[in-house]
Amino acid sequence: MILKDNEILKKNFQIVICGSGPAGISLALELEKKKIECLIVEAGDEFYSEKAQSRYVGEVSGNFPEDLSVLRLSQFGGTTGHWGGTCRTLDNYDFQNWPIKKTEIDPFLDQSCKILNITKSFREKNINKNLKIIEFQESEVRFYEKYFEHIKRSKFINLCLNCIIFNIKMSGDTVTEIFLKSTKDISIKAKFLVLACGGIENSRLLLWFRENNKEISKNLPIGNYWMEHPFKKIGTGVGNFNLIRKNFKNNFEKFENFRNWGNFTVSISPTKKLIDEKNILNSGVFLTLHDRDNDNLKNNIKDLLCFAPNLSNKIIKLFNKNLLCGITISSSWEQDAIFSNKISLSSSKDFVGIPHSKLKYEISKNTLRSAEEMVNQIGIYFINNDLGRIAKDQLIYNKESFVSEAGYHHIGGTRMGDNKNISVVDKNLKVHETNNLYVCGSSTFVSGGHANPTLSIIQFSLRLAKHLIERINYL
Ligand SMILES: Cc1cc2nc3c(=O)[nH]c(=O)nc-3n(C[C@H](O)[C@H](O)[C@H](O)COP(=O)(O)OP(=O)(O)OC[C@H]3O[C@@H](n4cnc5c(N)ncnc54)[C@H](O)[C@@H]3O)c2cc1C
Repeated sequence: MILKDNEILKKNFQIVICGSGPAGISLALELEKKKIECLIVEAGDEFYSEKAQSRYVGEVSGNFPEDLSVLRLSQFGGTTGHWGGTCRTLDNYDFQNWPIKKTEIDPFLDQSCKILNITKSFREKNINKNLKIIEFQESEVRFYEKYFEHIKRSKFINLCLNCIIFNIKMSGDTVTEIFLKSTKDISIKAKFLVLACGGIENSRLLLWFRENNKEISKNLPIGNYWMEHPFKKIGTGVGNFNLIRKNFKNNFEKFENFRNWGNFTVSISPTKKLIDEKNILNSGVFLTLHDRDNDNLKNNIKDLLCFAPNLSNKIIKLFNKNLLCGITISSSWEQDAIFSNKISLSSSKDFVGIPHSKLKYEISKNTLRSAEEMVNQIGIYFINNDLGRIAKDQLIYNKESFVSEAGYHHIGGTRMGDNKNISVVDKNLKVHETNNLYVCGSSTFVSGGHANPTLSIIQFSLRLAKHLIERINYL
């Protein structure tokens, strides 16, 4: 049901969820199944509006590629209004530093795949002891298209658009009042408040709430350990088209939904053994074959034929006349969780008076080294299987000049943990030392692995729903 701001005041809600992206909507849908009435407060409108989007302006420094205002969307459905839809689960070993294991979110995978209309198939197969090929799924779900009408008709999910959570009042460890800005200033109460405002806004809001509520501990590292998945072309190659296709096809013939870039793409990840032995981060590497070369190699060989016919004939023979010049290796990979990479509050404010976000983001040497190691390993695989030759894209391994090509996955800032000095929420996503303030979304991730985050975000939302339902039943 869609409510106007004056109608909100007449109702009592057990749970107020801020944000109608995948995190907020998945949580509300699960509560609805148990007939628990909730309110979703959404800062944006039904569709894109310049006004709502203007709140996303922010300052960036370091290796971050883009202005913060263009990466996320403030509207019903959140950033799924322009997301890519690529999905994969996190790996078991991504949970090494978490207070929970992957088995804690596995039970919610089925339902999360249903929400995203994808098949639950994320297979992998080792191609040698260091590398494995992996399977993704592609979702075509836009949360607006799939869920707006449903929520409009729902008896249990209430939605208020153009309504911004602006502040909270705490008494002891409990949020006692929630301040909203809509057509006017409103204050409401709820048993539980959940922030599901996205991977930058969750930190921004909590930092702002702390400025106004001394009850939120100064020691919590709110905004720190912020991460992204760097995305970049990390290598190129030449090789024999037929041999490469045959080699990988034998391995992944039955895998579905590989990224369909170029003529042929295969997705490769490091095995746990390689991660442990080389002490590298996780990564998803996309090896794509193109019709045309990256560096005009075909023309260079043509030129060479005039000047050095013997040598160029040898090269052509080497590739059995199936010379393919266009192999591109791109990667979307894990980044170190570093304390100094952080969201903080800027001195400028948005139109409701909340300071804009300020992002400090630097890529670590270890992050770059991890990408480099993957190109090395793929190069070795190509040599051992006589598929061609791979070259590193040297420039990208320079920390100073590195700029990712994406900036889309916003991870950390309100990370989960048992130790309050290095985490903000506990394993149930409740802010430490508070009784009823929760955070939901990739901001709570301790590490990002390489998997696109939304499927895992939804798994965590469903797990949070279970926890809140248990708490409500206990009250
Ligand atoms: C270009 C692009 C491509 C992407 N592709 C993929 C992909 O292929 N696969 C993948 O897994 N992920 C992808 N992502 C990331 C994905 O979009 C996010 O992981 C996902 O949308 C996060 O969900 P969320 O609900 O946490 O936040 P969001 O979707 O950002 O939703 C947050 C909501 O909170 C609202 N809000 C914010 N502040 C307030 C406030 N103060 N009061 C009330 N409401 C508020 C916002 O208006 C917004 O609607 C992509 C992102 C981008 C930018």
